[in-house]
Amino acid sequence: MIYGCLRPNQINSVLRMERESFEQMCNKAGVDIRKQEAFMLEVLKDAIRTHPNDETNSNILKCGDYFQALRLLAYSNKQNDIRVITNIWDKLPINRKYWERTIGNLKKMGYEIEETPYDSLMAIPHYCLFDSEFNAFVRRSVMLDNVPLLCIYELLTNMTYELLNFIVPVIFRLLPSGKCTFSPESFVAEKASTNNFMNNCGQYFEGLFGYRSADMFLTDVDLVTSNPNPNVMLYYLTLINAGAHFFVLSHEYGHLLMGHLDLSQCPQIEHDADQFAYRVLSDGFRNINDNLKMMLHLGAAFLLILLCIFEKKQGGRVSETHPPSIIRLILFHEVFANKEYKEVVAAFVRLILAAVNPTLKFNWNFEVVI
Ligand SMILES: [Zn+2]
Repeated sequence: MIYGCLRPNQINSVLRMERESFEQMCNKAGVDIRKQEAFMLEVLKDAIRTHPNDETNSNILKCGDYFQALRLLAYSNKQNDIRVITNIWDKLPINRKYWERTIGNLKKMGYEIEETPYDSLMAIPHYCLFDSEFNAFVRRSVMLDNVPLLCIYELLTNMTYELLNFIVPVIFRLLPSGKCTFSPESFVAEKASTNNFMNNCGQYFEGLFGYRSADMFLTDVDLVTSNPNPNVMLYYLTLINAGAHFFVLSHEYGHLLMGHLDLSQCPQIEHDADQFAYRVLSDGFRNINDNLKMMLHLGAAFLLILLCIFEKKQGGRVSETHPPSIIRLILFHEVFANKEYKEVVAAFVRLILAAVNPTLKFNWNFEVVI
């Protein structure tokens, strides 16, 4: 059930790849594998503890095995994302020939799939890698039984939530009506320079840039007790986080469905995949209210900001295959973001940077300016 349409040998392959990558990471960092596994399970549970009503989340909270918990989470995200994508299937720029060929391969490999887009997409295995990469990919060179795989690095799965956890209460302000608005930039800048905030923020980025071991415990800012109206903040946090993940997965499905695996990598196909993701983000949520939709857009911007920071830390190397994230962020804002969200997205980007730049400058001597 938790593996979707995967066949038993594929499930084993996916689990083996995940464990191997995890063990490699532990060996490289010189930490105890079991201790680290327990730590990672706690990190994952912490991130979802606030939503125990969701069936997947309550199952994850009962998990004693980290990799099983990871699978449950991946499967649940995958189901949601694929549902949104397939709801607007006919409106998307899908390379039908490429996709039919992929389905043909799936069948040759023994999948008994109905030819609905939902079932065929569910048959694409997801797996998780543990290198110090804040990224996701589908590649022609990484196949399982002739079927493409979608890889998401663990850092990306868990670290978006952790930053939002202490940034959201600073960049948003609660109004007497119970709704939230952005905090003034001067307030964010002031908060961002306090010891407490910089400690949290510094630890967070150390984890993002390097490696989180069980000995390096992130200070947990508890939204539930530190905020006068935790539910609204949590709601914002969850939606922005969901938007970030949704953007990543839709981008990868964009590569897959537009037939990019048949092309060589270049910046243009990255922009096309971004555009695919924005299309899904704008059209796939027609029936939800604007505020919610806007939060998902902020999630996409948030993910791109994190990519900008990660890239800059790596020395801002120029990639031949990927456009600089800062260009992707600017394009998102200027071309793709829904007109009515433009100002909100711009304000959000300014506030996030106002919050993280003092810490980045103090510890790593760089800042991201857009
Ligand atoms: Zn891409």
